[in-house]
Amino acid sequence: MNASLPTPFDLAVGDLPVPSDERSYRRTQLASWLYGRGARSFDEMTDLAASWRAELATHFRVDPFERVERFPSADDSVRYLLTLPDGQRTEAVYMPYADRKTVCVSSMVGCPAGCAFCATGALGFGRNLKRGEIVGQLLAVAWGEGFAPREIRNVVLMGMGEALLNYDAAVGAIRTMIDPRALDMSPRRVTLSTVGLPSRIRRLATEGLPLVLAVSLHAPDEETRRRIIPTAHAAPIVEIVSSLHDWQAAGGRRVTIEYTMLDGVNDSLAQARDLAALLEGLRAHVNLIPFNPWSGSGFRSSPRRRIDAFEAAVAHAGVSVSVRFSRGRDAGGACGQLSLQGAAGNPTSNASPRP
Ligand code: SF4
Repeated sequence: MNASLPTPFDLAVGDLPVPSDERSYRRTQLASWLYGRGARSFDEMTDLAASWRAELATHFRVDPFERVERFPSADDSVRYLLTLPDGQRTEAVYMPYADRKTVCVSSMVGCPAGCAFCATGALGFGRNLKRGEIVGQLLAVAWGEGFAPREIRNVVLMGMGEALLNYDAAVGAIRTMIDPRALDMSPRRVTLSTVGLPSRIRRLATEGLPLVLAVSLHAPDEETRRRIIPTAHAAPIVEIVSSLHDWQAAGGRRVTIEYTMLDGVNDSLAQARDLAALLEGLRAHVNLIPFNPWSGSGFRSSPRRRIDAFEAAVAHAGVSVSVRFSRGRDAGGACGQLSLQGAAGNPTSNASPRP
């Protein structure tokens, strides 16, 4: 297989190359093999003409990854360490629930935002992922877990990277996720997480995508926020909140505010009240996330009692709030832990397992 070839996931279904007869039908047929049945080679697509399959194999590879390593957690979530054709690596996390299959995907190798509490930020920026490398993470998880790709009903773009800095690839990947001929997901079950880039949030509001927007705020004041997110000076908090009002004015849904609870840094009752005041008039839900430790971070999670008091203060001010415990901590797959660990955890395979 030629590692430099693109994958079909780099293209919208409407742009897949098909024979000139019955184009629409042929595209649906090819998409059904890729996204419905999870085919991993063109050879498997036995009801496509042999000449078309040969043509496709000349121009595309199906699997976007050179190597797939699978790290299961005791809570049934699974971290996927994915090696790209150029040797760079990224990660995805599969989280099974009783009523749904959720996958957390990355938009980059590493991340340029450099959040101080995040192991990915400590890696620095590798490169942007292509559209097909973002969508391909869903395929890799489906192949690895042995179910059809369309069984994935929830996606969160909360893995490595700042998705809005890889705008075209991230939005293109979301369009593939919600295309009825591709992964056929409800946009309401796609969450895009951002550190808060006002101009990109306003641009996203024009895309007509009713997805869930999650903003990593982590502090209600500039000084604390810049300590946690060194690149935060580029976008003052008031400007981020203003862009969220614009998002909702343009038809955007309730936003999620992500707030990692760091002991003695951002967890006082005064900060809880300031946070609630900042969000006044905005349809928002605050997720309080106990910090997930990683070696060398220099932070500790706020103790449970303080998290509960913070939650109560935010709720008392009339803002919707809950505490969210991350999954996959023991496999290095929880929020803020993704750091390409290869030695920790317990990989069950060093090659893409087949269903
Ligand atoms: S929290 Fe998100 S935006 Fe911040 S460094 Fe980590 S991956 Fe990047």
